Amino acid sequence: MLSVDNIQVFYGAIQALHGISFEVKEGEIVTLIGANGAGKSTTLRTISGLLRPKSGSVKFGGNDITKAPAHKIVQMGLAHVPEGRKIFPDLTVCENLIMGAYTRTDRAEIAGSLDNVFQRFPRLKEREKQLAGTLSGGEQQMLAMGRGLMCQPKLLILDEPSMGLSPILAEDIFKIIVEINQLGTTILLVEQNAFMALQIAHRAYVLETGRVMLAGPAAELRENPKVRSAYLGDV
Ligand code: ATP
Repeated sequence: MLSVDNIQVFYGAIQALHGISFEVKEGEIVTLIGANGAGKSTTLRTISGLLRPKSGSVKFGGNDITKAPAHKIVQMGLAHVPEGRKIFPDLTVCENLIMGAYTRTDRAEIAGSLDNVFQRFPRLKEREKQLAGTLSGGEQQMLAMGRGLMCQPKLLILDEPSMGLSPILAEDIFKIIVEINQLGTTILLVEQNAFMALQIAHRAYVLETGRVMLAGPAAELRENPKVRSAYLGDV
C-alpha cells in the first residue's frame, strides 16, 4: 500500500534522512520507533507531502506521490494525525470533525462518518458542542484521530498518539488503534512508547539518525537485545 524508497530529506544544509526505505502492506499496523531526533516525524511529513525529499520516492496504492501536493494525497486516502494533535481550539468538537471531511462533498456520507466516529469515541459525542481547546489531553487525541478518520482513509498515519497521556489513557488510545485497524484501516504509527507500539504492531522499523537500523516482525524486535536495552528500558 505504501512504499518509501531511499528518501533523503534536508532542512536547509542539514540532512535529516539519509536514505530511508520501508513499506506498509494493506491491513498492517507498522510502527517506526527511535530516539528523539531520529527522523520519525520527518519521515511522516515527507510521506504526506509536507516536506519534499531531495531524492528517493514515495508510492501510495501504486501511484508515485513523491511530488504530489498534500491535499491531493489526503484525497487519495492517506490521513496524517500530526504530533501535538493540532486541533482547532476555538471550534467545537463537531466542527473540528467536519473539517476533517473537507475532501468530501456528499452530506449524507459525511453524516455517516460522523456517526461512525461518535460510535468509536462516545466521549466526543457527549462533548460535541464543547470547544476543542477545553478538552482534556486524551480527549484532544481522540478528536485528532476522529478527525483523521472523517476522510475515510485507507492509510492512517499517527505521530506520537500517546504523547502527554497517562499510562491508562495511552492504553485506551492503543486499544482504539487496534480496533480501527481491525475494521480495515491500515496504520503507520510513530511512537516514543516503543513498548506499547511493539505490542500492537505487526512489523516495526527502528530509526537511528535518519537511517533504518533494524526491521522485522514486532514480536521479534521485542526480543532483540539491542532493542530491549535501547528502547524498552532493559539494563
Ligand atoms: P522526536 O521523537 O523528538 O519527535 P523525530 O524522530 O520525530 O524526533 P524529527 O523531528 O524527524 O525526529 O527530526 C529529525 C532531525 O531533523 C533532528 O535532528 C531535528 O533537529 C531536525 N529537524 C526537524 N525539524 C526541523 C526543522 N524544521 N528545521 C531544521 N531541522 C529540523
